[in-house]
Amino acid sequence: MKIIDILRQDKVTLSFEVFPPKTSDSYQAVAAATREIAALRPDFMSVTYGAGGGTSEHTVGIAAGLHEQYGVETLAHLTCVSSTKEHVRNMLDKLRAHGVENVLALRGDIPADGEVAHDYHYAAELVRDIKAQGDFCVGGACYPEGHVEAANKSEDIRHLKTKIDAGCEFLTTQMFFDNNILYNFLYRIREQGITVPVVAGIMPVTNVKQIKRILSMSGTYLPERFKAIVDRFGQNPSAMKQAGVIYATEQIIDLIANGVNHIHVYSMNKPEIAAGIQASLSEILR
Ligand code: FAD
Repeated sequence: MKIIDILRQDKVTLSFEVFPPKTSDSYQAVAAATREIAALRPDFMSVTYGAGGGTSEHTVGIAAGLHEQYGVETLAHLTCVSSTKEHVRNMLDKLRAHGVENVLALRGDIPADGEVAHDYHYAAELVRDIKAQGDFCVGGACYPEGHVEAANKSEDIRHLKTKIDAGCEFLTTQMFFDNNILYNFLYRIREQGITVPVVAGIMPVTNVKQIKRILSMSGTYLPERFKAIVDRFGQNPSAMKQAGVIYATEQIIDLIANGVNHIHVYSMNKPEIAAGIQASLSEILR
């Protein structure tokens, strides 16, 4: 089933994300975590794509398993800035062969050494290419706080419109910790004629290492309420995990209450976190 058809239904959806192993050694552990998350029967699951494409086979393997073994609708991420057109064609052939019909088309981060492949410059070009190569449902990324490279939010939204016009059928947001940022972004994109479904990406922050990584991503605003939680529980791993899951769950409840129907949890290969959030929403998702 195409994810756009799931998102068009008049219901709240909950989806989870997994990332592929960095080495073949950890493949079994990731596959086991994926199986446990799939057993929660989310509306769909996404599988990320390693920067640079070095682990692209693992993305295909995990996505294929989700679809073929567990019957979960699957969204395979695919980046382009370090890829050739030939590699993209091969990836699409493999995904199609395994029945995966949904792709999140991304540019990918520019590698630190600036070395790129030159076939693609922006995600919109990949969107266009995928749409030309078969019956895929194609989604894209968006940034409620603006993408780090964009001069300002208006410019970023103009580029986003180009991606939609290229055939991008839905958007998934970068993580955010203050829902007002998303509400403001939705207002601005709708005003610019972007009407596709937007899936809110929620990151349950459950340890201090994650927080340091988020802080290193310029532009992510951390509300005082969130900072107080980190100050109080940051050095106590189990308390931080509990507080992080509750913070994310409260964010989700507020979003749903305000009409944001599609929630994607960055579940980071952690079945217990996915299960904890889902259990706290059991009546809301009914
Ligand atoms: P684009 O949409 O191409 O935008 C990138 C920048 O270029 C923006 O600043 C935009 O304003 C600008 N731009 C766009 N078009 C033009 C134009 N025509 N002229 C000038 N400027 C333009 N990375 C991975 O490596 N693997 C993943 O699996 C992955 N999954 C992600 C999932 C989500 C939901 C999100 C939000 C991000 C994900 N990323 C992933 C990170 C993503 O690859 C980076 O954020 C990357 O820097 C931008 O990718 P994009 O597809 O948003 O790029």
